Amino acid sequence: MESRKNEYDAIVIGGGIVGTSIAYHLVEAGADTLLIDRGDVGQATSAGAGIVAPLISERFPGRAAGFALRAGAYVGALAAALARESAEPTGYARCGLLLVAASEDEGEKFSRALPVILERAGGDGSCRSVQASEAVRLFPALGPVYGALHYRDAARVDGRLLTRALRAAAERRGLTASGENVVELIRERDRIAGVRTERGTLRAGAVALAAGAWSGAFAKTLGVDLRVEPQRGQILHLDLGEPHNSATGGTGDWPIVVGFRDHYIVPWPGGRIVAGATRETGSGFAAQVTAAGVREVLDEALRVAPGLANAELAEIRVGLRPLSLDGLPILGPVPGLESLHLATGHGPSGLTLGPYSGKLIADCILGRERGDGAELEPFSLMRFDGASAPAPQ
Ligand SMILES: Cc1cc2nc3c(=O)[nH]c(=O)nc-3n(C[C@H](O)[C@H](O)[C@H](O)COP(=O)(O)OP(=O)(O)OC[C@H]3O[C@@H](n4cnc5c(N)ncnc54)[C@H](O)[C@@H]3O)c2cc1C
Repeated sequence: MESRKNEYDAIVIGGGIVGTSIAYHLVEAGADTLLIDRGDVGQATSAGAGIVAPLISERFPGRAAGFALRAGAYVGALAAALARESAEPTGYARCGLLLVAASEDEGEKFSRALPVILERAGGDGSCRSVQASEAVRLFPALGPVYGALHYRDAARVDGRLLTRALRAAAERRGLTASGENVVELIRERDRIAGVRTERGTLRAGAVALAAGAWSGAFAKTLGVDLRVEPQRGQILHLDLGEPHNSATGGTGDWPIVVGFRDHYIVPWPGGRIVAGATRETGSGFAAQVTAAGVREVLDEALRVAPGLANAELAEIRVGLRPLSLDGLPILGPVPGLESLHLATGHGPSGLTLGPYSGKLIADCILGRERGDGAELEPFSLMRFDGASAPAPQ
């Protein structure tokens, strides 16, 4: 029997968008890398809606805002680089976005939000208020509109396809991938020296922990609470059928619609419309469809866009967002512990932030981080009270 190799420059735990991006950037720089993913049902990347629009998001305070903008731009750059080398699709398109007030009280909220967003855009012409008639022309399924803003630079990306294309590109550069379960991290005093899987021990110069909502399972070995929990998201795929499923025009040209109740609608070519999503904090790891979840998402989608009422309900996806205490990623080292790099907690924004986080974590592993890693500083585990350095074992 052929014995398998058991030592690498780097091991990445988790093959969602974050881990796959780390692995891709590592092998691109020539690092001998193993990506381990056990393929959990509920992987967030497979369910993600794929909205990339950090400018209009309220989720990024202070220095996180600049990071989010750079990350958003990086998704497009990465998709373009992948497209240059292979025909594998990523679903990336700069489709634009409508922020829509669908009731009178939302119209008031809209009036308050508009100047804030326009100021954030800095007069770059990417955002403009549009008449209700123009909003309906852009997204014909909309109901009454009490205020609308169009953001030109918003994009969508298919998390599954992007991750698949990234992994294929990484494998072409020599990535080794395995479908094992990482049972534990191997800790030798103040460093992580590798991982133990059910198939044996694997050693590495560096280990990246990108296990999404499951990352907390390693907290005991690390001696710190990672403060990441699963937040279930149920998301519906509708099929509008004829005449919207033509290869050109049709729903592929419609913008994303975001409302004022945390829900959204993402159109794709071929009549596919994705309506999302529940945000079930405290859901635990059960990646199941629930009656209440489906009702919530459908009610909200049809309230904003009643023209979708006759679409076929084609598919329901469920993903577990890796939610940190403050909703922002946890990136970088565990202080006091060498050779381990955290890349988790991307919550509702991992398809936007994850490709860039992955690049920066790969840079850290390669010893190439710019500005002494200042870019990752706002995302350090140490921002949480009580996340102290672990005691040596
Ligand atoms: C419904 C929904 C809508 C979303 N919409 C958007 C959006 O519009 N825009 C946006 O930017 N983001 C969105 N997100 C968020 C985004 O999808 C996530 O933040 C991102 O996918 C997280 O990626 P990840 O790689 O950290 O985790 P995951 O994709 O969950 O991957 C983690 C992987 O690690 C593996 N793993 C875990 N433990 C182990 C182990 N011990 N051994 C081996 N493998 C292991 C798992 O099997 C899994 O494959 C959405 C998420 C959901 C659920």
